[in-house]
Amino acid sequence: MRRSQASAVVLASGSPHKLAEFRRLFLGSPVRTVPPSDFAGPLRVDETGATFLQNARLKAAAYARACQAWSLADDSGLEVDALGGAPGVRSARYAGPNASDDARNAKLLAALADVPEARRTARFRCAVALAAPDGSIVYTAVRSCEGRIAHAPRGGQGFGYDPLFIVGAGDRTMAELTPDEKNRVSHRGLAARAARCFLEARLATTPSN
Ligand code: IMP
Repeated sequence: MRRSQASAVVLASGSPHKLAEFRRLFLGSPVRTVPPSDFAGPLRVDETGATFLQNARLKAAAYARACQAWSLADDSGLEVDALGGAPGVRSARYAGPNASDDARNAKLLAALADVPEARRTARFRCAVALAAPDGSIVYTAVRSCEGRIAHAPRGGQGFGYDPLFIVGAGDRTMAELTPDEKNRVSHRGLAARAARCFLEARLATTPSN
C-alpha cells in the first residue's frame, strides 16, 4: 500500500445519510474519504450475499475495480429478535424495493404489535470491508449496537429505522441523538472507527514511495 494510494478512499455507497456519517467519522484523519460522485457516481451492486459481511465485500470490490481506487463499503441493517433476526440483510427492502423509511417503520411496528416490552430486543449491525484498487479485500470488521424497538417513532435525526430504535438500556431513540452522539455508539461508528484505525496504522508504517 503506497501512501498516495491509501490516503484517498472511495466510500462505496449511494446513500447520502451513510456518506454523511462516514465523512464525519473520518474528520481529522489523514485518510481522505471521497464520495462515488467524484468518479462515475453510485454503482448498482446486486446485494446477493447471505450476510452483511458478504454484501460489504461485494460492494467494496465492485467500487474499487470501477474507480481503480481504494474503497470502503458498509452493509448494515436491523435484526429484531422477536422476528427471528428479520429484517436483517433485507432491511432496505423490508417493505418492497421502492418503499419509504416511513413505510418500513410502519411495517415493523405492525409486525411487533403484540410483542411485549421485554421481547422487543434488537440490534443494528454493520459490516465494513476495505478493498484495494484491484478489488482484493484487505480488511473487514463487523460491529453491532444493542437496543429495543419502540412502540411509536420518536425523533427527527438520522434515517431509516432510527426513530424506532431505542439505544442500549436508555430511553432515547437513535433519531433523538445528535449526529456525534449517534456516531459514538452506533454500529457504523464502531465499524468505521475500526477501519479508520487499520488505515491510519497502514499509512504510518508504509513509506510514501
Ligand atoms: P444497505 O444499504 O443495504 O446497507 O441497507 C441498510 C438499510 O438498513 C437502510 O436502508 C436502513 O433501512 C437500515 N439501516 C442501516 N443502518 C441504519 C442506521 O444507522 N439507522 C437506521 N437504519 C439503518
